Amino acid sequence: MSYSDKHKIKTCTMQLPVRLLLGPGPSNLHPRVNQQLTSSMIGYTDANYYTVMDETMELMRYLFQTDNHFTIPISGAGTAAMETCVSNLIEPNDKVVCLVSGFFSDRIYQMAVRYGANILKVDKQWGSWFSLEEIESALQTHKPSLLTLVFGETSTGVKQQMEGVGELCHKYNCLLMVDCVAALGGVPFFVDQWKVDACYTGGQKCLSGPPGISPLTFSDAACKKIATRKTPVANWYLDTLLLGQYWCPEYNFADGKVVKSDPPPMRKYHHTTPANLIYALRESLILLVEEGLDNVWARHQAAAIQLYQGLESLGLKPFVNELNESSEKGGRLFSLTTVTIPEGVDGKMVMKYLLDNFNIEIAGGIGAFAGKVWRVGLMGFNANPSNVKLLISAMSDALKANGYNN
Ligand SMILES: *Cc1c(COP(=O)(O)O)cnc(C)c1O
Repeated sequence: MSYSDKHKIKTCTMQLPVRLLLGPGPSNLHPRVNQQLTSSMIGYTDANYYTVMDETMELMRYLFQTDNHFTIPISGAGTAAMETCVSNLIEPNDKVVCLVSGFFSDRIYQMAVRYGANILKVDKQWGSWFSLEEIESALQTHKPSLLTLVFGETSTGVKQQMEGVGELCHKYNCLLMVDCVAALGGVPFFVDQWKVDACYTGGQKCLSGPPGISPLTFSDAACKKIATRKTPVANWYLDTLLLGQYWCPEYNFADGKVVKSDPPPMRKYHHTTPANLIYALRESLILLVEEGLDNVWARHQAAAIQLYQGLESLGLKPFVNELNESSEKGGRLFSLTTVTIPEGVDGKMVMKYLLDNFNIEIAGGIGAFAGKVWRVGLMGFNANPSNVKLLISAMSDALKANGYNN
């Protein structure tokens, strides 16, 4: 019997619902970004493609607010960018401090364990952030070469305070790695000004783009650390020395120099980069430039504040108490709000009601927050007044249908 006779594979046209994605990501694609996914494929050594690559790198520097030459998109989800940082910046037995107060900060810790780091894990209750005193004490005790933290923790809706953190790390000769996946392109973040050495995000959160392509930037100090490793990076696919030979062969990791030559140095094939995802990322970033980051940040903040007011009108409360508009202070993360599920309400039923009746997706809590909160994302293209209005009115119906009367 042939394989086909045995298996009888059925095919049909995919019919996916059109959802309004107001969870922790993915969020909806901007139509212009969506269009780029069907642009024509070209080869990875085509001069036209090199231009797309260079433009994308320049646009990413704007996104990160950095002059870092090594600013490239990683082919993979946000987690691949996270693993790029961990695998490149940690050698076996390197001392690392991991600040952990949520799901994603714990994921960084789990990765660092696999790469053989000597880790001081500083645990703090989910929903809190770390003070400068706590950070300094960890730096003094452990004398790490790398400190890791999450800026916008999607599991808790908390924004880590950044004021003084970079200065402190550098005072103790330590590189600073920051996960910005749920925040970059939605909430103010300044890689150079805040002295961050390694930072990354993902396409599908505040960039209104597809998952699978993840901007990453390394400072010259981070690159130097990589150039002077005693052991090769244990992850070949994510080895930035190799990736650099394709993305920016003019850059020298050891001394941070950029050698401009004519013709430019040859790019060396590493892996086939996902061209359409890069076109899409480039378009997401052009949208940011057109609107202006200041306006983008203001729009996200306004949407979040409208959401808080709407929640209050329904008798609901954001889980994180402290609302801090200052960009460098800790507090609520404007792009992702955790909402306390009221006593007696089945959070899952409310989510199902929103999905079935309004095609709106929000998420429940994970880890320590399972069953305790809903997670509402207002990210990128989705952070606008009409979406918030629709969500609040749909929530009102969903709560009533589930026996909650405010
Ligand atoms: C979503 C997210 C990630 C992981 O991104 P993936 O694309 O799902 O791998 C990492 N960190 C934070 C803070 C996130 O919100």
